[in-house]
Amino acid sequence: MSKRRRIYEGKAKILYEGPEPGTLIQYFKDDATAFNAKKHEIIEGKGVLNNRISEYIFSNLNKVGIPTHFIKRLNMREQLIKEVEIIPIEVVVRNVAAGSISERLGIDEGEVLPRSIIEFYYKKDELNDPMVSEEHITAFGWASPAEIDDMMAMAVRVNDFLSGMFIAVGIQLVDFKIEMGRLVEDDVMRIVLADEISPDSCRLWDVTTGEKMDKDRFRKDLGGMLEAYREVATRLGIMKINEAHGSKGPVLVSDNDTK
Ligand code: UDP
Repeated sequence: MSKRRRIYEGKAKILYEGPEPGTLIQYFKDDATAFNAKKHEIIEGKGVLNNRISEYIFSNLNKVGIPTHFIKRLNMREQLIKEVEIIPIEVVVRNVAAGSISERLGIDEGEVLPRSIIEFYYKKDELNDPMVSEEHITAFGWASPAEIDDMMAMAVRVNDFLSGMFIAVGIQLVDFKIEMGRLVEDDVMRIVLADEISPDSCRLWDVTTGEKMDKDRFRKDLGGMLEAYREVATRLGIMKINEAHGSKGPVLVSDNDTK
């Protein structure tokens, strides 16, 4: 067993201390939770897929100049990240109505929104992550007005990048949630993308069939969650059908294949 110090354990991930100061190791678990963990199951292999999908997305975001906490993937379930001070706000970007906005505002699921909408939620499990406004965020000191501007600009850039990346492989990005943190480097503090981006935190629909390829498969008991996540990874080119190994399904592309 590992003797590393565990810094934090969440619903789907564990953070361990990293090899150097200012770094952490982010471990992806197989736990699937919904409705604030009232629903819980182990989906074997989910952590491995989310580690790879999030690695793919974060490394590409780094390449296009959107700063993230991601340094490198270490193994099947772990990645090395920069330690940041997490801002206790979940930023949701919506392109199409689904989930809570459909319920709250009575908009049919699938209706394209007049424009992309950014929402803020206060990260507080005991309160079921309530939706908050910029007023709450600044009044309670969770983030400054300048930080909110940075967060919104980053959310728009991430939405543009992800929408294009997914549509290119026949997937519609309906909505997603991101988290951000403060990183101090060379005495300068800036906001960087943190946490993960995976089918756990996005709504992804097949463009032609409308089939759900995300955590709604678990939330709504549709089955086939792992297969859907695998299909996302395959379409992004992270996995390939490997008949040479006699496997029926796709297998993870090795490190050498992606370099
Ligand atoms: N989301 C998330 N974590 C949360 C809440 C939401 O990753 O704690 C994601 C969710 O997967 C969806 C988007 O944020 O892609 C919008 O979620 P919504 O507000 O519709 O809430 P939900 O339907 O998950 O209750």
